[in-house]
Amino acid sequence: TNPKFNYRRILLKLSGEALMGDEGFGIDPVVLDRMALEIKELIDMGVQVGLVIGGGNLFRGQKLADAGMHRVVGDHMGMLATLMNGLAMRDALARAHVNTRLMSAIPLNGVCDTYNWAEAISLLRSGRVVIFSAGTGNPFFTTDSAACLRGIEIEADVVLKGTKVDGVYSEDPMKNPDAELYSTLDYNDVLEKELKVMDLAAFTLARDHSLPIRVFNMNKPGILKSIVMGDEQGTLICH
Ligand code: UDP
Repeated sequence: TNPKFNYRRILLKLSGEALMGDEGFGIDPVVLDRMALEIKELIDMGVQVGLVIGGGNLFRGQKLADAGMHRVVGDHMGMLATLMNGLAMRDALARAHVNTRLMSAIPLNGVCDTYNWAEAISLLRSGRVVIFSAGTGNPFFTTDSAACLRGIEIEADVVLKGTKVDGVYSEDPMKNPDAELYSTLDYNDVLEKELKVMDLAAFTLARDHSLPIRVFNMNKPGILKSIVMGDEQGTLICH
């Protein structure tokens, strides 16, 4: 690997909302293609990229459960939503001439591969983007949990969590414009200050395995490359 890079292998987590742009629902094809090109830049640099995409732009299990649906069924639908986003991203990457493998935690024969750890590692080593879809495959979890789980499994150097804001703030920056943006945080700072980074299951998994998390603004063009080149964008959470 190139010593100029900060990271040799990353786990990129994009929320479903990151794909919907200003549409409010679904997938904005312009945003999708821009993200595919940003990922391509990393692959062209020789960085190995695992990708977890959320599903919140299409379905959220909790929301359906609140309206009376069985939570488990809602979560199954949510996981299928992440798979739909994964299919869209695989297609966008293919059109950008990036070799990509879509794996799902829930087998879907004929549509994509089933998650396989050893195969994922081997594909990453050969420069394929591997998309890990259907979350963890279990209800009551989130795609942030999936990102940390897969990140630990593939021994990623970092989880890069792309969001709509610049990083982790002392308060909600939408509500308080004076909220402080943190550049680095310890895992315990996040827990003590009750900062919103990820749900607790995902976050403690990352902490227990010393997997660093960088939260950054995915809407800034070129940001992925600059982070990999060592630019301290957003907030880094580590020990
Ligand atoms: N989900 C699940 N198990 C998982 C990952 C996701 O049940 O391991 C379901 C859950 O219903 C969740 C939905 O999939 O609401 C979409 O995932 P998430 O909310 O994490 O997406 P994001 O907020 O990142 O777009």
